[in-house]
Amino acid sequence: MSERLERRPLICGNWKMHCTVAEATALAADVRRLVASARQVDVAVAPPFTALHPVARRLEGSSVALAGQALHPAEQGAHTGEISAPMLAEVGCRHVIIGHSERRAAGAVDDAAVAARVRAALDAGLSPIVCVGEQLAERDAGRALERVGAQMRAALAPVAADEAEALVLAYEPVWAIGTGRTATPEQAQEVHAFIRGLLRDQFGAAPSGGLRILYGGSVKPGNMVALMAQNDVDGALVGGASLNAESFARIARFQSELENQG
Ligand code: PEP
Repeated sequence: MSERLERRPLICGNWKMHCTVAEATALAADVRRLVASARQVDVAVAPPFTALHPVARRLEGSSVALAGQALHPAEQGAHTGEISAPMLAEVGCRHVIIGHSERRAAGAVDDAAVAARVRAALDAGLSPIVCVGEQLAERDAGRALERVGAQMRAALAPVAADEAEALVLAYEPVWAIGTGRTATPEQAQEVHAFIRGLLRDQFGAAPSGGLRILYGGSVKPGNMVALMAQNDVDGALVGGASLNAESFARIARFQSELENQG
């Protein structure tokens, strides 16, 4: 329990391929205003690439951090359509999402590519949000932990123990993303505890106890409190509900929702 208290929850909104620059800056301004009263949480938003710079300017002076949605592992070069880690750092990103299932499904990244991107993010001083999660068929076959374990081992291979504190993990069961079907808090906790164990095996007790493991998959204001009641759930990666500033802010203010319920 003491370990849990050391981990400040992180709520990150993944705006995916939504929002023009005008829409993104308006959403960022609303998020900034509405999460100002969220206590003891870190908040981040991941706009599409075209909106990163204007959103960074809109968030200046606030506690809301900026995240990229993807990156290429090279620093620069002939990689049409790609963005590098130093480019994300330059526009003010603190985090970058790596290995999101939508990118894995599109064939943009496999486990080896995720590892290369984790390395590139760390080298640029970014905090990677590394996504792992099983398909429905894998869960139904009782192979969820096996799949998550393989993804974790591959992603963390290039990370030394003294770099681990920059990491954020996100457990996102693929069958729960954008489907309205959330993992039960118990299902989430089982996988989060498993991930924590893998972190401990690789990095030792000290850094791994402090690392945040986010849950992602149809998180809404109505299910956030129950998810956050689990010992190893340290925040959320939020897709659909992050496009509505009110919903996203209610998720970030889950502590107040809990007090209101009590
Ligand atoms: C996501 O894409 O990371 C995600 C969790 O989406 P949603 O909240 O819409 O399920």
